[in-house]
Amino acid sequence: MLGRILSFLLALMLGLVSGAFIAPEQSGIGGLWGMLAASILWFFLDLWSGLWVKRWLSRPHSQAPAAWGGWGEIVDRVQRLVRVSERQLSASQVRLEQFLSAIQASPNGVLMLDADMRIAWCNTMAAQHLGIDPARDMAQLIGNLVRHPDFSRYLQQGEHAQRVVIDGREHRPDHPQRIALQLFAYGDGQYLLLSQDITAVEQSEAMRRDFVANVSHEIRTPLTVLAGFVETLLSLDLTPDQQKSYLKLMERQSQRMQSLVDDLLTLSRLEGSPMPGREPTPLSVFWTALKSEAQALDEVMAGIWGGLHEVVFDPPEPPDWACLGQRTELQSAMSNLVANALRYTQVGGQVCVSWKWGSQGEGIFTVSDNGPGIAPEHVPRITERFYRVDRSRLRETGGTGLGLAIVKHVVQRHGGELIIASELGRGSSFSIMLPAHRVQRVSGGADGE
Ligand code: ADP
Repeated sequence: MLGRILSFLLALMLGLVSGAFIAPEQSGIGGLWGMLAASILWFFLDLWSGLWVKRWLSRPHSQAPAAWGGWGEIVDRVQRLVRVSERQLSASQVRLEQFLSAIQASPNGVLMLDADMRIAWCNTMAAQHLGIDPARDMAQLIGNLVRHPDFSRYLQQGEHAQRVVIDGREHRPDHPQRIALQLFAYGDGQYLLLSQDITAVEQSEAMRRDFVANVSHEIRTPLTVLAGFVETLLSLDLTPDQQKSYLKLMERQSQRMQSLVDDLLTLSRLEGSPMPGREPTPLSVFWTALKSEAQALDEVMAGIWGGLHEVVFDPPEPPDWACLGQRTELQSAMSNLVANALRYTQVGGQVCVSWKWGSQGEGIFTVSDNGPGIAPEHVPRITERFYRVDRSRLRETGGTGLGLAIVKHVVQRHGGELIIASELGRGSSFSIMLPAHRVQRVSGGADGE
């Protein structure tokens, strides 16, 4: 503003001087005419500059006009303001992009809906969960795209404090996918629809329920038998021999409960304990323990089934190697496989225990038998807790249904794999594969890693 006043005063002065110069004989009047002419000229120049600035303001990205008088200052200020707001705009643009990519990275789906429930924006996860194409389906009604009846009902009801759970786009009977959805109102009538894949949560909840039901069932069975015997002993007048045979049966039931509780504790210890260290245990130590355990178990079973098995131990070659891991865990996993082979193979059958090397330096402990074998449909499931191929043989074999689950857990904790091969009527082979970094030469040789 000051610039314009100064330029106007300067024009008046120039007009006055030039008027007086052109007509010196009428000094007073000439100066006045000069001032009048200068102010008219100033007015038109000012108007012309103003119009240029106005034209430029409507297209601020075009070349700035070389404005006259105070307009130049206004143009400078406007340019400065435009630069500042451009900087602010690009900073907010960057922040918005960061914000959107953070939402994109979310493991949960985020979908923004306008007041009419039309899609305004969604991240990739929401698109995957709901089968939406973000480019094609923008501005579509969500109710038209997600047609699950439970979701339609949920949209229609006014209350969205609870979530709704529907089958996901990829849901199939053999491949469940469950998606939880919840609407949250925000802003000016808009909605945020959050989606979460809860398949794993639902599965683990179902597993937990099954586990509790199985444990209760497994404990209730021997308890019922025990209670029956106690009642018989109390109510009937039995001979000492009869009493003894009842007590023996009771002992077997309590041993069954004892093994079940022991296996449950082992499983929970495995789940809660840190990853196994690298304590070296020579293979010969495992071999000696396995041989004496197998012999003792076979003799006990011979007392019940009336015969022994042929047990062959094929020793590791070369013998001076050790396993690196948690010794008691590895020992119990190996013993479990030997015990299973003896328990499930008919008297007189053959059980072979061996140690071989894989092509990558991995150690492979195998127990094979020529027992009844397992039908292919059961093989993938026998490592599940409490899964048994033939429940009617339970009493004969005296197992808890947790043995192979424990073995698998131990092997996986050591970075290895439990490999099962079986043929119905011909026999089975169970192998514990320990990776090369879990075996090591104990004396005078190269490292197994
Ligand atoms: P269990 O205590 O019942 O033996 P496991 O987890 O050790 O529980 O084994 C699960 C099931 O796998 C057994 O019930 C049995 O049906 C089958 N199984 C395990 N080992 C053998 C084997 N060597 N031969 C045949 N079937 C076996």
